[in-house]
Formats: sequence, C-alpha cells, structure tokens
Amino acid sequence: MAEETIKGNETEEKKPLNFVQQIVADDLKEGKNGGRLNTRFPPEPNGYLHIGHAKAICMDFGIAEMFGGTCNLRFDDTNPTKEDVEYVESIKEDIKWLGYDWGDRLYYASDYFPKLYDLAIRLIKEGKAYVDDQTSEQIAQQKGTPTTPGTESPYRSRTPEENLDLFQRMNAGEFDEGSRVLRAKIDMASSNMHFRDPIMYRIIKYPHHRTGNTWNVYPMYDFAHGQSDYFEGVTHSICTLEFVPHRPLYDYFVDELADESYRPRQIEFNRLNLTYTLMSKRKLLQLVKEGLVAGWDDPRMPTICGLRRRGYTPESIKNFVDAIGYTKYEALNDISLLEHSIREDLNKRANRVSAVINPVKVVITNYPEDKVEMMTVENNPEDPNAGTHEMPFSREIYIERDDFMENPPKKYFRLSPDKEVRLKAAYIIKCTGCKKDADGNIEEIYCEYDPDTKSGMPGSMRKVKGTLHWVSAKHCKKATVRLYDRLFMVENPSAETERDFRELLNPDSLKVTTAFIEPYLAESAVAGNKYQFQRIGYFCVDPDSTADNLVFNKTIGLKDSWAKEKAK
Ligand code: ATP
Ligand code: MG
Repeated sequence: MAEETIKGNETEEKKPLNFVQQIVADDLKEGKNGGRLNTRFPPEPNGYLHIGHAKAICMDFGIAEMFGGTCNLRFDDTNPTKEDVEYVESIKEDIKWLGYDWGDRLYYASDYFPKLYDLAIRLIKEGKAYVDDQTSEQIAQQKGTPTTPGTESPYRSRTPEENLDLFQRMNAGEFDEGSRVLRAKIDMASSNMHFRDPIMYRIIKYPHHRTGNTWNVYPMYDFAHGQSDYFEGVTHSICTLEFVPHRPLYDYFVDELADESYRPRQIEFNRLNLTYTLMSKRKLLQLVKEGLVAGWDDPRMPTICGLRRRGYTPESIKNFVDAIGYTKYEALNDISLLEHSIREDLNKRANRVSAVINPVKVVITNYPEDKVEMMTVENNPEDPNAGTHEMPFSREIYIERDDFMENPPKKYFRLSPDKEVRLKAAYIIKCTGCKKDADGNIEEIYCEYDPDTKSGMPGSMRKVKGTLHWVSAKHCKKATVRLYDRLFMVENPSAETERDFRELLNPDSLKVTTAFIEPYLAESAVAGNKYQFQRIGYFCVDPDSTADNLVFNKTIGLKDSWAKEKAK
C-alpha cells in the first residue's frame, strides 16, 4: 500500500494514492525531469466530450493540481476530414465547466506539423522510413499475426534518395489519397504488431480547420503523439489501456528526440465503460446525425453537455470518477453509481418544490370558497441556510392521480375513501367520496380538512401514515416536463454485436407531459436551476424554457427505480 496520502483538511479521511499518483510522487521525489510535472489532455476534435473523457480529464488536470504541476490542453487534430472548430469550442467549454483550467497552455498537434515533417525527412535520410506504394488493404494483409511474422513490402528497400523524392511529392499533392504512405522501417517479424513497419504518414487532400491546404500528408497518431508530448515538455502522458501495445512505439519515436535530461513517459489506466451507455464518438455522432436524439446535448446523451443539460453538476461527475477510481484492468461500471452521485449532490443543493405531473382534482368541501392561506415550506431540510418559501392553499387542489385509490389494497397509505392523509405543509384531510365519468375514471375527489391540524400547530402532530404533495388549483401554473429514462434498453450495448445499436434504443427514453407547478417554482425558474419535485425526483430548468413556457428536464428519480424493477 502506498505510503503517501493525499493531504486533505483535518476532517477529511486520508486517501491512499492511486497507482498513477504513486508513480508521479516517486518521479518527483527522484527529481526526474528536473522535478517538473506536466500532463496533457489530448482530445481529437471530432466530437463532443463524454463522461469517459471526464474520467481522463479528472486524472490529467487533477493530478497536476494535486502535485502543483501543469496540464496542457492539446487538440490532437491530425485528421482534417473528421475534425471541426465546433468541436474545439465545445471541448474547451466542457473542460472549463468541469472546473479545470489549462491557463496559457493551449496547443494543437497541427502546430507541430513542420517539426514532425522535419523528423520524417531525417528518418528517411537515415534509412529508417520508406514510401510504400501499396494500398492499405495490401499492407494490412502483409501484417501477419501475433504468432506469424509479416511479409516485407516490395518497396521496403528503396533508397533514401528515392524515398525523399516521393515523400516530398506526396506532400506537394502529386499523388492521390491512398496511393502511397510513409512507413517506419522497423521489424516485420516483431512480436509487437505495432512495430511491423507502422504507417507514419498518409495522404489526405482535405482542408484542415487550422492549416488549410498547407499539407497533403498528415501524421498518424503513433507518429504524432509522443513527439508532441516531447515538444511540449510533457513529463507524464497518461492515457487509457488500449495504448499499452503502442507504448514501445511511443518510446521508439521519442528516442529519436530525447536525451538523458528529459523524456515523457506514458502511463495507462482503465477507460470508463458504463452500463446502458455507448461511448463511441462514431456512434454518438450517428445518433445526432440521424436525429435519433435532439443533438449532442440531448439530456439522454452521455456527453458532458448532455449531462449538464440533464441537470448534472461538475461535483457529481467528479465524485463519481473519484468513487470508481483508476485501475489497470477493464471494467463495466454500473450507471446507477453515476445516478447515485447526482442524487446525493442534488439532495444537498436543490430546493424542494411542489409539482403534480399526473393531476386529479381534490375539492375540500368544508374549506371556505374564497379563502387562501399562505403555507410556509422549508426549502431544503438538508441545508439550514436554504430558508423557506410560501405556497398558497385553497379549496381546490391537485394531487397525483396515483395517490388516490377507490379500492386500495392493504398497506396503501395514500388517499382512499374514509382514510386520512397529510397534505405537505398544510392540513390533514379525510376522503369523503369521489365523482367518476361514464367510463369509471375519477374526475374529482371530495375531502374534508381538519382545521386543527394546520402545519406547525400542535394539532398537526397527530399521526397519519401518508403525506402527499399538492398544488392549489387556482394558483398553480402549467409547465412542460420532459421525463427522461436510459437511452438504451440493454445493459451492455457494445457487447450486442448481432444487432445494430439503433435497435437497442429504449423507445420510452423520453416522455413529454404537462405538470401543474406551485407559483414559487414558476417565479424562480431560470435555465440551469435545479429543484427537487417532492416525492418525484430532481428536475432542472432547460435552456429552452421561457416565462411563458417553462420547461423542466427530469434529472433522476428520488430512488433507483431500476434496482426495484430488477428485484421484482
Ligand atoms: P476516438 O479516438 O475513437 O475518436 P476517443 O474516445 O479515444 O475516441 P480522444 O479524443 O482521442 O477520443 O480522447 C481523448 C482522451 O480521452 C484520450 O487520452 C483517451 O484515452 C481519453 N478517453 C477517451 N474515452 C475514454 C473513456 N471511456 N474513459 C477514459 N478515458 C477516455
Ligand atoms: Mg483516441
């Protein structure tokens, strides 16, 4: 077990370092790289960031924060056909929203295109790289298998002069895309497949969002990443486990640049996989493009902007990442852990309000027709500083339809004929009857209230089992509520290789309905505000919301309803 611990304040428990933090602590103690710590977060701007990226961001920026180092934001923009400034801007916004800051260390891999090109030229001159005229299919066929060596390309023995000429002409735009690549001349029999003459450059004739038409050749990830780290002075290049087999190649190219005094080091941790969630940017893009969701920030998406719009807070995401931790083996995390984290966070910060989503009217027959009383409601019992607000009570109110049953089973503690319930922050009422339409649907419920049981008065101490939320019919306002559920029906959508992922979408992931809400909520609702609709769940105000058409997104129910269903 690690000896060092994270120094929190005195009340906080000391937490042992995770394995990456331990490596960094050891390197700093040994004075490696002059005692510097510099990490980087390297997104490719080909989509919006998702919760998996948040795990990487918390590591890259978090570890720099923890040890007094710095973290660069570097856009890994080496494939112009898939990248866009829209993505660059969204990525910056999301990192800031999570609470991290790259200061003046904003970089682009495209800044290093000239230096990378020079390095390629040098490797060609030294006989360490060659131009291959084969197609990518042919090259793939010659790769061999992990247990059988690959086949050398017929172009492998070209002279440096010929390679130099061809590579320069590739970049000058003389050849078609796919007709030639530049490959590193390493070892076609290596036990590491990545060493079997990996491709360094390919021809792409598509304008780059930053460098325009300057280049016709673009470096591959393996030929760009380690060197970019080196150019920036990155000391710890932390990435996900799928890069483990790339590490020797990372080191191979860094060796061409680094000396004894400084070299970046790659460290890998397990990526985040979540149940009922797909994290592939390609598939997320497909959902957006095909209109299967409302956009990258659809509240059902696992994107940071989707989670934000859903009502997630940065703290809830960070707490979740902290709870699942970083390891060296792949896992599938339960999405209910993420949901638990937002529930816990909103429980502390969200004001309690009254909203009725599926209303039925209750008439309190012994309450004066024109009387209105203002009832005082505690905003948040978890927060002594949250204060109170007023809520009007009158003769006609709405309650939830399923809070009434004419012929209830035993242990039904809500409203039914001759039974009493407490109306939250108001009175105890007793049901005296109801009116039904021709089809037997309940139209109105009749009750009598006990005037001695007003909330806060001694008579209110009387024991009744059920407490219902309600709104005054005369005073409530209408609002649109969007009820979200999980986007996918199956636990592990990426494991369903037989079916197209679009067939796995949950058809009930969004229901739009109208709710009746208390006046305080209508008056205080501004985009981004978060509330607990009592007895229902947490909701936040959508950016689409206006004073005339309030829109609330359901973030999460009060309890894990899926756990209950599973247990059934
Ligand atoms: P792709 O490369 O397929 O476009 P990507 O998800 O790897 O997708 P990048 O933009 O390359 O996207 O990712 C930036 C960083 O975020 C990388 O260091 C990557 O390891 C990390 N990352 C991506 N997905 C996850 C995940 N699910 N969990 C943890 N880290 C992730
Ligand atoms: Mg990637």
